[in-house]
Amino acid sequence: MSERATPFYCPYCGDEDIRPAGEQPYVYRCDSCLRTWQLRFVGTNRPATEEIS
Ligand SMILES: [Zn+2]
Repeated sequence: MSERATPFYCPYCGDEDIRPAGEQPYVYRCDSCLRTWQLRFVGTNRPATEEIS
């Protein structure tokens, strides 16, 4: 498994014309709407059965 997720679509306009923006990790730019945004992995969702009651 790769630790780094690669987005396929711009979350703002849905265009696929996105690419990494510079040196910063997880930062991408969209050439369609010209937005620069950051994608970060913040954790995983645990099954509800693991919750402590
Ligand atoms: Zn866009």
